Amino acid sequence: MKNEMEVLKFGGSSLVSADAMQRVRDVLVARRGTQRIVVCSAMGGVTNALIQIGLKAAQGDAGYTDLLDELIERHRKTLDDLGMASDADVRSELNGKFDRLRSLCAGISLLEELSAKSMDQLVSFGERLAVPMVHAWLDMAGLKLRRVDAREWIVTDDQFGAAEVDREASARNIQDGVLVDDSFEVLITEGFIGKTATGDTTTLGRGGSDYTASLIASAIEADCLEKSTDVPGMLTADPRMVPEAQVID
Ligand code: ASP
Ligand code: MG
Repeated sequence: MKNEMEVLKFGGSSLVSADAMQRVRDVLVARRGTQRIVVCSAMGGVTNALIQIGLKAAQGDAGYTDLLDELIERHRKTLDDLGMASDADVRSELNGKFDRLRSLCAGISLLEELSAKSMDQLVSFGERLAVPMVHAWLDMAGLKLRRVDAREWIVTDDQFGAAEVDREASARNIQDGVLVDDSFEVLITEGFIGKTATGDTTTLGRGGSDYTASLIASAIEADCLEKSTDVPGMLTADPRMVPEAQVID
């Protein structure tokens, strides 16, 4: 396909705070010159928080609203820390999403019911909140951006929570989708989420952003797929479980 396109995936730990997002932007600005597709996870901890909020709401525990407020506040604070307090576009987009998130949780709480389908709607907000922030943040740096809703590209079945990707259909969507306008320096999209043929939002299973990034890299025959996380290289084991894990040269 396109020569010299790279796919970069930024996980939750790369987007956990304004400082981390600063590093993401530094990397992309410093390495300008190659076209990149950037796949974003939710901010670190947000997917877990959303799951907790959903479970609490479904138990009729009104305490879910405190967790939800906290989650919303965390996104707002990150925007402020990044100096985007007066960026009306991203603020109003995020506010719209916060409202929908509140309504969804109120619905779950009223019904005291949380289907796998509603859970996918709910957790998809993690990535769908992160992308507008990253987009606005990179825009401030003057990069030529394009943004794509991953659900336009990633087609799945309806096994909510661990949806199976239709790889052929998704690859075609990605290939055609990139070509619609390939004048970007950085194209930003969500990891982890997809859509069924009938338009329902799905998720690909925990940690699914890596999979999204791989699907995109493979579809466009990318030169490389880079996955950024919070350890300095490739380790012999997960350092959270094996403290003596070593970096492999
Ligand atoms: N945000 C999702 C999760 O925490 C997907 C990912 O991070 O890859 O599982
Ligand atoms: Mg991960």
